[in-house]
Amino acid sequence: MPTSSGASFVAPDPAVAATRNRRGAKLSIVAPMHNESEVLDAFFTRMGQTIADLGVEAEIICVDDGSRDDTLAKLLERARHDPRIKVVGLARNFGKEAAMTAGMDAATGDMVVPIDADLQDPPELIEEFVRLWERGFDVVYGVRADRSSDTFIKRFTATLFYRVFNRVSDLNIPMSAGDFRLMDRRVVEAVKALPERNRFMKGLFAWVGFSQVGVPYVRPPRAAGTTSFGYLKLLRFALDGITSFSTVPLRVWTVLGLCAALLAFGAAATLIVRVLVVGRDVPGYASLMVAVLLGFAVQMLAFGVLGEYVGRLYQEVKGRPIYIVSRRAGFED
Ligand code: UDP
Ligand code: MG
Repeated sequence: MPTSSGASFVAPDPAVAATRNRRGAKLSIVAPMHNESEVLDAFFTRMGQTIADLGVEAEIICVDDGSRDDTLAKLLERARHDPRIKVVGLARNFGKEAAMTAGMDAATGDMVVPIDADLQDPPELIEEFVRLWERGFDVVYGVRADRSSDTFIKRFTATLFYRVFNRVSDLNIPMSAGDFRLMDRRVVEAVKALPERNRFMKGLFAWVGFSQVGVPYVRPPRAAGTTSFGYLKLLRFALDGITSFSTVPLRVWTVLGLCAALLAFGAAATLIVRVLVVGRDVPGYASLMVAVLLGFAVQMLAFGVLGEYVGRLYQEVKGRPIYIVSRRAGFED
């Protein structure tokens, strides 16, 4: 059952749906890999089976993200025997987001599917993705219906992250959606056209829009090997996500500054009135306090103003397009 899982996207375009057919279309699988030697055999077995069942032309783009084990050597060996397998070896570990970007840049398919190499994203689901793509959806994303394979802390922190992210950014990324999804070529082009360097992919995938739909699935534990994401890395990732899609952390200072200024002016006024009415108790207290409070208020306000400008600078520097057109009709060209 497809689901929208809280996010709202435009409806699929029937005219687009009419042109979609897996026959004659090419599928690009993009698999970022960091120290995945142990799981490679299982990955290619299941991936090969899925592609055979789908009956589409396919390529499997494996991005070796600076593995220290023999992942790259194994990939190169496989690529020698299987023309569908393409290998991109990064010069060091650049992180999953960079590896996915490299893979998407190399992909030539009409449909592109980023997928984890550890089989936590079941390849069999791609069949359903393709079906919905044929019905006109531009993005079909997997939604983790059951996260019991994750620890309680991971589930809790993930939920917290989505809540905070959706609140402070003007985006709505679907709850519990990961990177596992199918994207139409035009979505891939739109994502590739985003010039920013800090690539929080889940955010970019949602930012470009188009018609999107979720498919729930149960996320199994890793097939073999170990996760590359510790809590510290996840925290950095969460901060990356929030800071690339929100200037709220910069701009809260305007509100805080205003509140602080109001309080400070109030306190200063009370102190002055008190001295005038009851006379001074400790000499110098009122004047010192008023100076401190006003100085503080002015500083907080100044931070806020700086935050507003830096926030806008940041938006401009990212150089994102103002909008993305998905369809035009009735024009001469
Ligand atoms: N990965 C990567 N570069 C990294 C970390 C991870 O390419 O620096 C890949 C990894 O090989 C796997 C996917 O990203 O295919 C997801 O990583 P992992 O399974 O370790 O994360 P988890 O599922 O625990 O969140
Ligand atoms: Mg994993």
